[in-house]
Amino acid sequence: MFMSKIHLDIVTPEKKVYSEDVDMIITRAANGDIGIMPKHAPLVSPLQATIVRVKNDGQEEEIAVSGGFLEVRPDQVTILAESAETASEIDKNRALQAKERAEKRIHSAEGDLIRAEAALLRSMNRLRVAK
Ligand code: ATP
Repeated sequence: MFMSKIHLDIVTPEKKVYSEDVDMIITRAANGDIGIMPKHAPLVSPLQATIVRVKNDGQEEEIAVSGGFLEVRPDQVTILAESAETASEIDKNRALQAKERAEKRIHSAEGDLIRAEAALLRSMNRLRVAK
């Protein structure tokens, strides 16, 4: 049976991180979590630091993204992110160090709390994707 797919591109200023025809994409847009399948209504949304879950042929893959935009068209999803990494690209130690650094900054209540919280979220997403 023919199953329709939707094309997903994830790009950063540095490189193309992901480009595949997939069954479904689950992520967090400005208004909350969305699941995107072929023929989804067109949509543009800013993207916070989050995890993009991709389902394809019964497999699931996760990509950590930070900041940027999500554009949905019926047959194409484009994520333009400040950074994006698949599980194998993530340096777990680096993410762990970033998490500890951010936690220290949050607890010391010095400096930019918003920035520290954003760094904490990025590191936690990376650790979750890296497993
Ligand atoms: P750090 O404090 O470790 O630099 P960060 O959250 O500030 O973390 P970003 O500014 O989000 O880092 O990313 C800068 C660049 O480094 C991006 O290209 C991103 O893909 C890459 N990067 C950041 N953390 C990791 C990691 N743990 N593993 C692999 N690449 C990473």
